[in-house]
Amino acid sequence: MRKAVFPGSFDPLTLGHTDIIDRALPLFDEIILAIGTNSSKKYMFSLEERLGFLQKTYEKEPKIKVETYTGLTVDFCKSQDAAFILRGLRNGQDLEFEKAIGQTNFKMSGIESIFLIASSGKAHISSTVVRDVIKHGGNYEFMVPDVVRK
Ligand code: ADP
Repeated sequence: MRKAVFPGSFDPLTLGHTDIIDRALPLFDEIILAIGTNSSKKYMFSLEERLGFLQKTYEKEPKIKVETYTGLTVDFCKSQDAAFILRGLRNGQDLEFEKAIGQTNFKMSGIESIFLIASSGKAHISSTVVRDVIKHGGNYEFMVPDVVRK
């Protein structure tokens, strides 16, 4: 069974995330959307809200499971018996960052990272930009799925 973990903060879930998840679905038997929790990080949306965004968006998709985890992503993958980590690449900066993490994860665990490049027209979307627009009262709705729109 081909099982992948898609780790992220999802603060909030965006159409950039759903683009990667939807395109990865045919590649795997199961994808675990895994919200990494880091007690020293400040989030705009609570863990419950972020869980709800993912659960509601994919409630009708049997191949998707939603979980939270703390600690190393590779340890979480092992606990779930997942052999792959799924990540998205928006630009060269993402590539450089992900390269080091992917190589380290492989050395530590033998778990392969699989990268999908952002679809045309989606690479500008990031949770950071969405949070900034929300903070300043702008229109962010075109960057997020229905469940995140108030
Ligand atoms: P993290 O804090 O781990 O980067 P994020 O929730 O910001 O968590 O992102 C999770 C994953 O989704 C990362 O692999 C990121 O590159 C990917 N991602 C986010 N936005 C996009 C986008 N617009 N296009 C492609 N991948 C994206």
